[in-house]
Amino acid sequence: MGNGSDTEAETGRIVSREQVLAREDARLAPYACRGCASNGRRMEEPPDPLRTDFQRDRDRIIHSTAFRRLNGKTQVFVADTGDHYRTRLTHSLEVSQIARAISRSLSLNEDLTEALALAHDLGHTPFGHSGGDVLGELMSEHGGFEHNRQALRILDVLEVKYPDFGGLNLTYEVRESIIKHKRPFEGEDYAPYRPDEGPCLEAQVVDLADGIAYLSADLDDGLRSGILKRDALDHNVGLWEQAREEALARYPGTSDRLLELKVVAQLISLLVRDLCESTGRRLAERQIASLEDVRLQPDSVVAFSPDVLSGEVELRKFLYDHFYTHFKVCRMRNRARVMITGLFRAYREGKELMPPRFQSLADTDGLERVVADYVSGMTDRYAQKEYGLLFQPGEGSLDA
Ligand code: MG
Repeated sequence: MGNGSDTEAETGRIVSREQVLAREDARLAPYACRGCASNGRRMEEPPDPLRTDFQRDRDRIIHSTAFRRLNGKTQVFVADTGDHYRTRLTHSLEVSQIARAISRSLSLNEDLTEALALAHDLGHTPFGHSGGDVLGELMSEHGGFEHNRQALRILDVLEVKYPDFGGLNLTYEVRESIIKHKRPFEGEDYAPYRPDEGPCLEAQVVDLADGIAYLSADLDDGLRSGILKRDALDHNVGLWEQAREEALARYPGTSDRLLELKVVAQLISLLVRDLCESTGRRLAERQIASLEDVRLQPDSVVAFSPDVLSGEVELRKFLYDHFYTHFKVCRMRNRARVMITGLFRAYREGKELMPPRFQSLADTDGLERVVADYVSGMTDRYAQKEYGLLFQPGEGSLDA
């Protein structure tokens, strides 16, 4: 055998980008987002020989600094309270796993779904939602702060990876999906993203998968911490009860912590099942036959059935009353407020306290915006260390 045929045989085993796109096109539902029909990137780049643009976007997100920092950010518990609670990184992986399962079963684009799921929390501040609320108040007269907009700013501006442009130069579909959350899409932020069009189904899936992931995780973390009591859930909260019955039918005689884990797992699968079935029905009822049809819908096509939706509302209320407003969680929230406010004011009054890159960015993008960038980018641990360094002499180290 000559060298030429060896090389051909070798190449024949490799699946090229064109083949991946063709397979994707053949496999996906007519209303899915297709890599071959992407609106492309802001700056043109040569295509990758093996990966589609959405696969490449996903990989760029995974390799970003903001993605690694998710490991040090928490949603409800502050990062130093225990090793077994979710961080935003593990939450993002859970959202990705749930969203991909839903996308696969609806024949949507799994790669795009994965990219969106992994990016969906990049713009969050340290110390969970309370950090975002505080920063929102501090920024109220300076253009506001909202984590989806911040995620886009990170991906478009703050991540520096390329010599010829700022940001990661992601595709239109990824950037559009990150920003389009609450209708109506009004204001200058939405202007470049066709504000009259709704987001693609992959974005809608990630939105709902986020809820499934954090509701189930908060139950699990809340029970693990002892803040939530199972007695309060059993026989009282509809979805929990339904999942508990399913878990007991499958694992009779299981009790205590193992049962709790199985109920949480069953709850995820119950919600995923309902979401897929209900969305399938809605797609058929609305006679959605193309991506254009999806974009013209006045509301989200991906949705729970009315019964599960009201169960979900009940579960959210339960978590609010018993977990998010528990005094131990409120104490963490107070700590977040004190530290975020202190850091924000310190940098605003002395921009020379920020690293040089942020000082020069402040000259072009505005001081408050860049202070918000710097503070929101911190991990819980870094924010606590920085607060100690600035406000409690002797606490921190100057080589931070
Ligand atoms: Mg989330």
